[in-house]
Amino acid sequence: MDTKTKEEMESQQYRFAGSHSAVKVCGWTKNMIRGRGGCYKLKFYGIMSHQCLQMTTCLSCANRCLFCWRGHKEPVAKEWQGDVDEPDLILTRSIEAHIKLLQGFGGNENADKKVLEQSQTVRHVALSLTGEPLIYPKLNEFLALCNKQNISTFMVTNGQYPKHLADMDQVTQLYISLDGPNEEVWKKIDVPLFKDSWDRMLQSLDLMSTRKDRTCIRITLLKDMNMIEPEGYAKLIERGSPDFVEVKGYMFVGASRQILDKSNMPYHEDVVEFTKDLIQYLDDYEIVSEHIPSRVILLAKKKFKINNKWMSWIDFKKWHNLVNSDKDFSTEDYLLPTPETGLSGKGTKDKIEKDECELD
Ligand code: SF4
Repeated sequence: MDTKTKEEMESQQYRFAGSHSAVKVCGWTKNMIRGRGGCYKLKFYGIMSHQCLQMTTCLSCANRCLFCWRGHKEPVAKEWQGDVDEPDLILTRSIEAHIKLLQGFGGNENADKKVLEQSQTVRHVALSLTGEPLIYPKLNEFLALCNKQNISTFMVTNGQYPKHLADMDQVTQLYISLDGPNEEVWKKIDVPLFKDSWDRMLQSLDLMSTRKDRTCIRITLLKDMNMIEPEGYAKLIERGSPDFVEVKGYMFVGASRQILDKSNMPYHEDVVEFTKDLIQYLDDYEIVSEHIPSRVILLAKKKFKINNKWMSWIDFKKWHNLVNSDKDFSTEDYLLPTPETGLSGKGTKDKIEKDECELD
């Protein structure tokens, strides 16, 4: 990456941790410290947004998704290039940079003092900031380090590296981003570098269906672009057989504003309508919950409804005990009840002018 791009990223509050990793404080981490509520992953899974470190172990990506907030000068590459930093260095420096970025809240009278104090201890890593974290060659060592430090891990991949996915150890929750109901639409939205990109995506979905982690497919909906053919999405979802599906509206943020228009951002009502169409083709799933500020709906496999109660939250204590033991375990072994479920019937049409900053 050239110095100018690096400087631009730093001016956008990115911080580098070694030669190929970066950190940026998520808008929801800040919201939580200000007492304005947490992200949708708090509502859906129990992630404490104020104790979340948003980062990547690899800045470059093999896709140039239209809706991505990352700058279009940021590196693109098909394979790993350059040095390989040690996992310990990446995690230590990332946490240091994250805590330093939060320092400004010390003198902020709107900050909740107790929450701010808790935010100094990172309990979760969202490997999704920018780039493709999956291709970092020492990823499994990095994950083991997180496990040892009782830090849970959510990993988001673009589905372009099935071999890396096959070699990856268990994470707390694995995501594949799926942004089209068929090859043609998906390629238009994700603009992949690989010639066999669709094949790679299908292979990744096949692998997802065999994984022991909690798994999730995330669909980013763009109005007038990929909100079509729910049956096509359903077939791909069935192929990946994830535990969860998140159907989420595109957010008009970052560099995507240079390519897309604000009108490509669906209202929450639009996301609800599309999800209702989609669920008709998915016998194994039901709608669990929604998060209106992020315009996202959660679907889960019916097996997560136990005794008529949704169980999509993570029992982190159990997760850490299990992952740090030699025991073989499954997603059902670390569940907690979902505190708030259902669709409220409320929408976003009247408050579209000022959007929350949603980075993940
Ligand atoms: S990075 Fe993701 S999980 Fe972490 S606080 Fe932000 S939205 Fe929530």
